[in-house]
Amino acid sequence: MNTATQTLLDAKGLRAWYGAAQILFDLDLQVGRGEVVALMGRNGAGKSTTLKAIMGMLDKRRGDITFLGHDISRSEPYHAARLGLAFVPEDRRVFTDLTVMENLAVGRQPARQWSDGKGAPEWTPERLFKLFPNLGEMPQRPGGRMSGGEQQMLTVARALMGNPYLVLLDEPSEGVAPVIVEQMANMILELKASGVSILLSEQNMHFAELVSDRAYVLEKGQIRYHATMQEL
Ligand code: ATP
Ligand code: MG
Repeated sequence: MNTATQTLLDAKGLRAWYGAAQILFDLDLQVGRGEVVALMGRNGAGKSTTLKAIMGMLDKRRGDITFLGHDISRSEPYHAARLGLAFVPEDRRVFTDLTVMENLAVGRQPARQWSDGKGAPEWTPERLFKLFPNLGEMPQRPGGRMSGGEQQMLTVARALMGNPYLVLLDEPSEGVAPVIVEQMANMILELKASGVSILLSEQNMHFAELVSDRAYVLEKGQIRYHATMQEL
């Protein structure tokens, strides 16, 4: 990380378990303000588990995790969201009977309740539609009548409604049509330009290269290496 960059997320010695099975082993990872960082690795390497562990969604986790200086190593997901962390899971859950506008209004992340004064943007549907023009073209469309890629966009847009500093994005390009993948990449770069940082799990090297500054490569719940995208 560039030393001039302020650390947003700092995880040290992160370990996590599902039941009795330890899945993550002493991960150290950081995300600086304004960065897009990729978590890469094969199926089962531990990418999703890492994002859930940061968010506080697992039965058991250990290690030191701070977010903008706040200790979140024992926080509930709700508390993490109030500090400005948002999580978009792999499975796209939109309300199929509700319109795009209604989906943005309900079931979103709890809104951030704290600011360090340097601000991440405050989102409105109108502002989001500049970032997601395809959603802006169908504000009254029910979630159930959208493509998988459009639903993926909607879940990201809904997470942004909580005004996060950092979005944890699990496999944004997975199973999404190429045209939407391209929009997704542009959307991530525009988010970065507007001051939102991103930690994404990604198996698609091409996509990771398009959007990320750095990558951590996971293997069996450990970081195999860590590099800038140019070095990979
Ligand atoms: P993918 O690319 O397939 O999404 P991933 O890198 O995100 O993979 P994880 O989902 O983090 O991998 O899984 C890491 C390990 O944890 C795997 O061995 C997986 O089988 C295990 N695992 C994942 N979810 C659970 C669960 N709910 N209960 C028990 N074990 C799980
Ligand atoms: Mg995963």
